[in-house]
Amino acid sequence: MSELKSHFRCFRGCAGTYSVFEVIYTCPNCGGLLEVQHDLDALRARSAEEWKRVFDERVGTTEWPYGSGVWGKKEWILPTIADDNVVSMYEGNSNLFWAERLGSQVGVSELWVKLCGNSHTGSFKDLGMTVLISVVKQMRSEGVPVRAVACASTGDTSAALAAYAAAAGIPAVIFLPEGKVSPAQLIQPIANGAYVLALDTDFDGCMRVIREITHDGESPDSSIYLANSMNSLRIEGQKTVGVEIVQQFDWEIPDWIIIPVGNLGNISALYKGLKMMQEVGIISRLPRLVAAQASKANPFYLSYMNDFREKVNVEAETTLASAIQIGDPVSYEKAVQAIRETDGIVEQVSEHELAAAAAMADATGMYTCPHTGAALAALFKLLKRKVVKSSDRVVVISTAHGLKFTPFKVGYHEGTLDEVESDFANPPVYLPADAEIVRETIQRRLT
Ligand SMILES: *Cc1c(COP(=O)(O)O)cnc(C)c1O
Repeated sequence: MSELKSHFRCFRGCAGTYSVFEVIYTCPNCGGLLEVQHDLDALRARSAEEWKRVFDERVGTTEWPYGSGVWGKKEWILPTIADDNVVSMYEGNSNLFWAERLGSQVGVSELWVKLCGNSHTGSFKDLGMTVLISVVKQMRSEGVPVRAVACASTGDTSAALAAYAAAAGIPAVIFLPEGKVSPAQLIQPIANGAYVLALDTDFDGCMRVIREITHDGESPDSSIYLANSMNSLRIEGQKTVGVEIVQQFDWEIPDWIIIPVGNLGNISALYKGLKMMQEVGIISRLPRLVAAQASKANPFYLSYMNDFREKVNVEAETTLASAIQIGDPVSYEKAVQAIRETDGIVEQVSEHELAAAAAMADATGMYTCPHTGAALAALFKLLKRKVVKSSDRVVVISTAHGLKFTPFKVGYHEGTLDEVESDFANPPVYLPADAEIVRETIQRRLT
């Protein structure tokens, strides 16, 4: 297996390949996105059964770096990274659990939730960042002059970048849209020692600035390395979520996977992992993918409504699902492929719908972030329309930990969120310390 290789190539198919250790993000010919291409023939030297056994054996192993959910699939991700250069905090292998009560409330018995927020910095962004920072570590060890890594972020990317960069001792620069990320998300990169710049713009504005500052190969400043999902190394790590879901079903394929989307790196990655499993022969068909957007920031939904004839951009409005408040998604072309090739669907949900779905899920023991609420609300709509059948096996990807969005929870239960009726609010009851009154109050509640 030691001859396995991977390289960058143009996603649109222009000629040419580039080393994954080169500072390059877009095709020099057409300006489109790159993707990492793997040597599938070499990978097929191992049978599907052997790959399954290898991947299963590595779950929970202490052998570095294979205990990570990402690096347990190293040959499929980045075979040429030296184990010593891997920067990992044991990301991945997150739990996939049966949401039995919520499923029965909405009429689908096989509802499963993949809790990607149970991770080092509390979101799935860790999966991609471990790969990107490992590559930067290897580049620096080989004398490539990368002085810092940088990203524009709606919150979770910056937390992941700051943590992995700090673990590797690499300076990190973070561009955040001022006032548009949650307090928990803002404090994460600050605590990890990143250089945090709060710009007076939205995410798309931050993205424009960072693209001007970082650059392929030559100036403006190729010594600042771009860590957004436009950098397709991120996609390689994030694609393990699709593989992991199938693995956790003992290599069976669910009917649907529903995921909240913003910049569209996530759904592109999910598709890439599943597609690779099909190409290696582990699965015979693909699940249908559903991309969930907030109506306030719905460019992908609008593009879907015109059959992807043209890419629609919008000015993203404020949404509770702040991590997907994006109007000009970078990985658009890859995501179109993901939807088309899986007979997928794009759905949009209102603020009220996503908040209500999150509250319903919480009342069954979950603690969902607003983006997960958007994915659940999209499912509820598809169930109502009978697009998703009650007998289907459905996976909802929970992208971040609810604890990162405390103001969302507090606002919901205090009934103060804009455009949201807090039908499931469960405020505390304030009482004097009088046993008789307390007893009577509890009795009233339980009858
Ligand atoms: C980044 C993020 C998303 C969306 O992923 P994209 O790759 O931008 O589409 C969804 N939910 C959360 C919590 C995120 O942090």
